[in-house]
Amino acid sequence: MSRHPYPLGDLPSPSPKLNPAIIRRDFPILERRVHGKPLVYLDNGATSQKPRAVIDAIRHFYENGCANIHRGVHLLSGEATQAYDRARTGICRAMGAAHAEEFVFVRGTTEAINLVARSWGDLHVHAGDEILLTEMEHHANIVPWQFLAKRAGAKIRVLPITPDGALDLERLPALLTEKTRILAFTHVSNVLGTVNPAAEICKAARDRGIVTLVDGAQAVPHGPVNLSEIGCDFYVFSGHKMFGPDGIGVLYGRGKLLASLPPWQGGGDMVERVSFEESTFRPPPDRFEAGTPNISGAIGLGAAFAYHDQLNWPELREHEHNLVTATHEALLSIPGLRIQGTVPGKAPVVSFTMEGIHPHDIGTILDSEGVAIRAGNHCAQPLLARLGIQSSARASFACYNTLEEVETLANAVRKAHRYFA
Ligand code: PMP
Repeated sequence: MSRHPYPLGDLPSPSPKLNPAIIRRDFPILERRVHGKPLVYLDNGATSQKPRAVIDAIRHFYENGCANIHRGVHLLSGEATQAYDRARTGICRAMGAAHAEEFVFVRGTTEAINLVARSWGDLHVHAGDEILLTEMEHHANIVPWQFLAKRAGAKIRVLPITPDGALDLERLPALLTEKTRILAFTHVSNVLGTVNPAAEICKAARDRGIVTLVDGAQAVPHGPVNLSEIGCDFYVFSGHKMFGPDGIGVLYGRGKLLASLPPWQGGGDMVERVSFEESTFRPPPDRFEAGTPNISGAIGLGAAFAYHDQLNWPELREHEHNLVTATHEALLSIPGLRIQGTVPGKAPVVSFTMEGIHPHDIGTILDSEGVAIRAGNHCAQPLLARLGIQSSARASFACYNTLEEVETLANAVRKAHRYFA
């Protein structure tokens, strides 16, 4: 008999939680010690930890209902199909959209952008056209467009940033020309933490008939994102950064636009009729989900949304804001330390460099203190070049992090400074 009283993909909704100490109890890994010290996990921008609700949903699927979807007449296949579809519906509802068919399950942000650059891009971008990106993009929102630009003979143009790390929106109107086919930009920078005014930017593009894609990889982990408020054509994100499993993410595409696009991969489950001469295709989302999808991943992501949804985000956002403020204050008191990205209201991402210490050395010393951060180019080489650096250290927070952990981080950074100064 199932140890879980709820059906696959349908999780109970506990009462709202605010206190990070209570939230932490939901994440088994946060009990871990590393190098004999309590784990201080500050690499959430790379991937978040997973609550028990997500781990249980995936285990529940494999222990009780593992089957392929859409194909079987047997009970298990029907249940798995229902759970998969229910995950899609839950995500649609949580993101303020009306139609679940607008949500395509993909491998993650990277695959979603590649899908759009292939399917939409090959149809709409031609020689002489322009693709507008920004200076703060992750490689995932640069390289697929370069492939497209090469195929089509199009040109990539770039909206610059201001010295404090905001998009230079005064320059936007001049860059949105009659040649611009798409504006693809990040909602939240994974290096600077800057939260871009997505609705305002999308409106500027929409007013000129230009399609928009918003990279939400670093936005969805920090509270609900409402797609009807943003008004974009495409919105993409990965599950693993918002408490969900890896290998699963979402491409949202505005209904009519998505339905007008050709498939980008062929195979089972996306077709209506197949002969050796030709095939016809099912409507979205099936058209874009060729082959057996990541069923347990989608169910896990549905559970992550259910978990995320019951958190008290207005207060947690304030908590995350306090974590950033405390981190800035503590780190800026260390001689020779510079923070990249100081725009007010930033997301809880703090990138920094220290004079005379390589970011990898900072990362290694912090690791010996149990503090996990990221060091490197953060897959944003053009942005780092613009900032005049090759790499940086980055502490990125989730709502389960605490002010005590900020203190541990600061003490470890001070230790690194003493060691190298
Ligand atoms: N965009 C941004 C802003 C990111 O931070 C990341 C992940 N670091 C990606 C895209 C790529 O996400 P994934 O590797 O999950 O496809």
